[in-house]
Amino acid sequence: MPVYNFSSGPATLPESVLRTAQQEMLDYNGTGISVMTMSHRSDAFLSILHHAEQDLRSLMNIPSNYKILFLQGGALAQFTQVALNLAQNHQRVDAVITGNWSRIAAEQMGKLSPYLNVHIAAHGGEQFNYTNLPAPETWDISRESAFVHYVINETANGVQYHPVPKLGSDAPPVVCDFSSEILSRPINVSDFGVIYAGAQKNIGMAGATVVIIREDLLQRCTDRIPNVWNYQVHLDRNGMYNTPCTYAIYIAGLVFRWLQTQGGVAKIAALNERKAALLYQTIDQSGGFYRNPIAPAARSRMNVIFSTGNPELDARFIQEAALNGMQSLAGYKTLGGMRASIYNAMPLAGVETLASFMREFQRKNG
Ligand code: PMP
Repeated sequence: MPVYNFSSGPATLPESVLRTAQQEMLDYNGTGISVMTMSHRSDAFLSILHHAEQDLRSLMNIPSNYKILFLQGGALAQFTQVALNLAQNHQRVDAVITGNWSRIAAEQMGKLSPYLNVHIAAHGGEQFNYTNLPAPETWDISRESAFVHYVINETANGVQYHPVPKLGSDAPPVVCDFSSEILSRPINVSDFGVIYAGAQKNIGMAGATVVIIREDLLQRCTDRIPNVWNYQVHLDRNGMYNTPCTYAIYIAGLVFRWLQTQGGVAKIAALNERKAALLYQTIDQSGGFYRNPIAPAARSRMNVIFSTGNPELDARFIQEAALNGMQSLAGYKTLGGMRASIYNAMPLAGVETLASFMREFQRKNG
């Protein structure tokens, strides 16, 4: 029986990536050693880093005036690292709250007060109980702010902006958490000042955090910032200010190459649409047995949340699905219900298997 892993992250990886890592585990490319034990300053590792960066640049069409870093600390560290780097002198920071992660981001940035002042530009919790998204035109943002921060796909709540918000030329630089959707659909990088993403969903394994930053913003990264948090210091040392997460970068490089073999981001986006549509159809055609509370236009293509409305039945669903080879379908810990995370590496066959299991479970319990 094939096993499909619907975890929200760390998440499923392409089998071919894991097989390559297995083959190369003891001897990477004739070096006689493992990437895991290799000096980060060796030619072999520098080449891995260089190619990972180049492949990400080409997959996302990242313009030359953007720099790329592979840092550690996860997306959570970015909530405050980005604020330390881009804001100063009690500047205002505009935070858009659309779910669990953007709420935590605003809270954590708030701890840097009075170094900066967080202004809530929109609150999808107060407006819609996180079942819909505040339209970008309604965000209360100011040109004077250091930046506006939002999360493009809320992993726990299952809401995602479609299309990608386009802000006017009088908007402050846009900082966006792409953790649970990077590389899942084509985007225009130039719409953003900073894009960051934890690797453990669409990029690879936990440990690496990708930061893509527009060059002109680096002027703000002055010596007032402790070195380990300072983007400019990391760039000046070519990502080697401290020991980088070498193995996670290697795995990211393998995932980027796999994505190229799948036809790139536009191709995978079409498949992602199909996968999400299949699950939402299964929910919508269940006659109310399964519910998804999200406004249709805001439904995430990456994290599909649903429940039966009965916690005991939900628990049974999750347990029986696991026995049938579909793992990690429990919803976010504070939200309950079910969540199917269907990132790039989840094959269509996995989603089809889940959809038919859902119909069968309804037939038995409906
Ligand atoms: N932002 C988003 C959108 C996330 O989904 C997560 C984790 N699931 C985080 C931030 C926190 O990331 P990390 O655990 O990598 O620090």
